[in-house]
Amino acid sequence: MIKKNLDILEKEIQNICDRVGRNREEIEVVAVTKTVDLNLIEEAIDYKYNSIGENRVQELEKRFTQLEGKDVNYHMIGSLQSNKVKDIVGKVKLIHSVDRMSVVRQIQRRSKNKEIVTDVLLQVNIAEEDTKSGLKEEEVIPFIEKVIDNENMRIRGLMTMAPHVEDEEIIRDTFRKLRELKEEIDSKNYKGLSMDYLSMGMTNDYEIAIEEGSNILRLGRVIFGERDYSKEI
Ligand SMILES: *Cc1c(COP(=O)(O)O)cnc(C)c1O
Repeated sequence: MIKKNLDILEKEIQNICDRVGRNREEIEVVAVTKTVDLNLIEEAIDYKYNSIGENRVQELEKRFTQLEGKDVNYHMIGSLQSNKVKDIVGKVKLIHSVDRMSVVRQIQRRSKNKEIVTDVLLQVNIAEEDTKSGLKEEEVIPFIEKVIDNENMRIRGLMTMAPHVEDEEIIRDTFRKLRELKEEIDSKNYKGLSMDYLSMGMTNDYEIAIEEGSNILRLGRVIFGERDYSKEI
């Protein structure tokens, strides 16, 4: 049963929004379903949490099958290899994790074949952690200028993960830098580029993320409880 978690979470998000003067409606929650049992995911969907995120293509594909026929928006949130792009193009609402040319080329090619436009975010490794993927901050604008002419891939914003630390100032600094980078990109008025989304904030840090302007939260444990990686989905 996760209804209680969702009730508490909704109240919490609403309180944070009230406190910082934001509208709840402008914030989307992606329910991150790594290792989660299907019945709990169905409960979340019934609760109108119908944006589902997975960090691996293979897991996402299992969800396509398991949840077939349901009104679900799928989000690819984890690092993506170019040879896997073909398996998700046309099926996902948003890819949060674009950070290299080989992936861009595949998204463009596969989307063009299907005559669709694929929406993506650029993942930025603000804290420059070795363990995380993503473009460095200073690489983002040159990257955009290199890929903006790909007509079948549309950049809609930026994504980051904060370091896993206690120090709230480090987390806040990460999110603030992502927002400032978005503002800098906005100020350049690239033709056809609409930076609509900042995907930042997970279970441990979504409050700070909302304060710093996030409009997509990627939440797993606060909804579904701790993950059990020994489980097959
Ligand atoms: C697992 C994961 C999340 C969710 O993390 P929680 O701490 O469970 O909220 C968010 N984003 C990415 C990229 C993840 O892999």
